[in-house]
Amino acid sequence: MKTQILMPTVENIKKASEVIKKGGLVAFPTETVYGLGANGLNEAAVKKIYETKGRPSDNPMILHIAEYEDLRKLVKEVNSVSELLSETFWPGPLTLVLKKKDKVPSMATGGLDTVAVRMPAHPVALALIKESGTPIAAPSANLSGRPSPTRAKDVLNDLNNRVEIILEGGDCEVGIESTVVDLTKDGEILILRPGLVTKGEIEEALNTCGYENITVGYANEEDALSPKSPGMKYTHYSPKAEMIILKGSKEKVLAEIERIKKEGYLGLGSGNKTGVIYFKDLDAKQAVKQFFAKLRDLDEEGVELIISVAPDKTDEVAYALMNRMLKASGYKVIKV
Ligand code: AMP
Ligand code: MG
Repeated sequence: MKTQILMPTVENIKKASEVIKKGGLVAFPTETVYGLGANGLNEAAVKKIYETKGRPSDNPMILHIAEYEDLRKLVKEVNSVSELLSETFWPGPLTLVLKKKDKVPSMATGGLDTVAVRMPAHPVALALIKESGTPIAAPSANLSGRPSPTRAKDVLNDLNNRVEIILEGGDCEVGIESTVVDLTKDGEILILRPGLVTKGEIEEALNTCGYENITVGYANEEDALSPKSPGMKYTHYSPKAEMIILKGSKEKVLAEIERIKKEGYLGLGSGNKTGVIYFKDLDAKQAVKQFFAKLRDLDEEGVELIISVAPDKTDEVAYALMNRMLKASGYKVIKV
């Protein structure tokens, strides 16, 4: 199969939708990261996504829709909280997990009786979903375990000859995956994955509408804040190079980077074989937008070691960035 990168003209979106309709795969831009899409109601098509990415089959994917009403077609019931959150944050980087209807194939939900649904805020994604006439199941369009793709060329690097069409949509505005919230428990919203839509924004939306009895919490708080076993291997978003995170004051971090560049780290990264990701005073949103692309660019340069500096801000977007850094490095944090 030859992979084509196509500009998102009306004609090409139609062409891509034909591929989706006949059960094939199309990579397409969203505002978060590029997705690898298939007809979400076609079990065989969804299966191809897992095979193409090498994704474990128990890792569920997100169904992408283009109309608010389509949520009702996929879930057993919407509730006032899901209505409020979809109206407030869609189209946008928030994914809602609710009980699924039988017609959603369990292949798409990793065997769970719940389904994750999102309306993306990218005109090309919305046009493709509408033209295809079906929800599109899509995880990130990378090989499983690699950094998420935020540019069409990243998708091509991982999936060349494995996907028919990549729709070009420029650099992703957000740059990390959506915030995922579980709405299946009464009185509680659980953030399964942090993202650009923050806990604070969700609480504000609830407060504005008078929901005072609903708590919002992180499902894996200890994960992102203080990894219990720094050596723990969790391959996700991983660059080919060894990666470590430096945490500390600006001065100490800069000194440690210089030291490692001279002496290496566990035999790696001396001389110019070290790549550095340091966003310094950059606003967390800008940092998030660049993070995955930087990992891929440094891999391309062939460095052995990537030193990523932990954000020193404590806002919730920085928290989402730290979550991705920790996973990409396999939780290797060095405090200086
Ligand atoms: P990705 O498609 O790579 O952005 O990953 C989708 C994310 O949504 C993963 O973290 C999944 O574990 C999560 N997810 C998808 N469906 C569900 C579900 N039914 N319940 C809980 N988490 C889900
Ligand atoms: Mg992914």
